[in-house]
Amino acid sequence: MMQSCWIYFSKPLSYASTQVPPHEKDGEMSEVRYEMPTTAEAAVALLAVATGPAKVLSGGTDLIIQMRSGQHTPSLLVDVKNIAEMTSISAVNGCYLVGAAVACMRLTEDAAFAKTWPGVVDAVNLVGSVQVRGRATIGGNVCNASPAADSVPAMIAAGAIANILGPAGRRQVPVELIAAGPGKTSLAKGEMVTSFTLPQRAPRSGDAYLRFTPRSEMDIAVVGVGINLTLDDSGVCTHARVSLGAVAARALLVPAAAAALIGTRVDAAALERLAAAASAAAQPIDDKRGTKEFRIKVSGVLAKRAATIALARAMGNH
Ligand SMILES: Cc1cc2nc3c(=O)[nH]c(=O)nc-3n(C[C@H](O)[C@H](O)[C@H](O)COP(=O)(O)OP(=O)(O)OC[C@H]3O[C@@H](n4cnc5c(N)ncnc54)[C@H](O)[C@@H]3O)c2cc1C
Repeated sequence: MMQSCWIYFSKPLSYASTQVPPHEKDGEMSEVRYEMPTTAEAAVALLAVATGPAKVLSGGTDLIIQMRSGQHTPSLLVDVKNIAEMTSISAVNGCYLVGAAVACMRLTEDAAFAKTWPGVVDAVNLVGSVQVRGRATIGGNVCNASPAADSVPAMIAAGAIANILGPAGRRQVPVELIAAGPGKTSLAKGEMVTSFTLPQRAPRSGDAYLRFTPRSEMDIAVVGVGINLTLDDSGVCTHARVSLGAVAARALLVPAAAAALIGTRVDAAALERLAAAASAAAQPIDDKRGTKEFRIKVSGVLAKRAATIALARAMGNH
């Protein structure tokens, strides 16, 4: 069953109702059709045939603010919070399947998930406040395409794959390829992310996410670093992924930084090489929250610290 209604947004928003029938009013109000399908296929069908701007609505913690400010003026909102495949977390053959509309808070409260992917939980646990995390979803964080989104470097480091459904069917894309630039995604018209697959965890694996913010809470990353690594029986790193957030137009996967760890015991020399590679990869802008030079330096510092935490987790010392 699909719920549907009309909502009116003035600019800025002063009035919203799900009761009022659709009509034009004084040119200031814009009409928004609201749909709440119960299957991903029905959601995509709505998005695909929309004649005006259409948006997926998850937690709304980014989108509603953007609508109030006039940054987005969709004529169709497709609320995906009633779609089972998008709101569930499951472990299948050692892989995790996390619905795109799973709220950050649910991930932090899932003890088995947190034990397997503590770095991803580090990241989602930093999103806003308790209230924000209760609404904000992992899919919204990725698809809002903010270069500073906290979950994105952690998900990239984890090797997460976005499962996408669109008018042409289903496809899979690594999370690092979803954002195309600030506020832009690589998703085609009618496509949405239904879930994320996180790969099976090898023994002696650990991940971590750290960010630098001027304030300890309710701030956005000036730099964010996600690191995921695996050790062999003798403590040598056999696999690593390193991702940087807030230092480029979208979160970066940095193979050169991972290469600095692979084949080492993640010792002091390897950490120095990691820091140098992370700083070299950062392509930040200057803004009021940090200069280029500061962000480049902090990229290296945070990479070392995150790798040290990931190493301790891989060794079971956390
Ligand atoms: C007070 C406050 C503090 C915040 N602090 C942080 C923070 O510390 N770190 C951080 O990273 N973010 C922060 N945010 C931003 C926001 O909470 C997150 O980005 C959140 O994860 C967005 O999820 P959502 O479900 O609310 O997305 P929505 O607002 O519903 O959607 C965001 C965008 O993604 C699109 N979208 C959503 N789901 C899908 C999907 N499945 N497929 C395709 N497109 C989709 C929407 O159409 C929209 O364009 C903060 C926001 C607020 C209001």
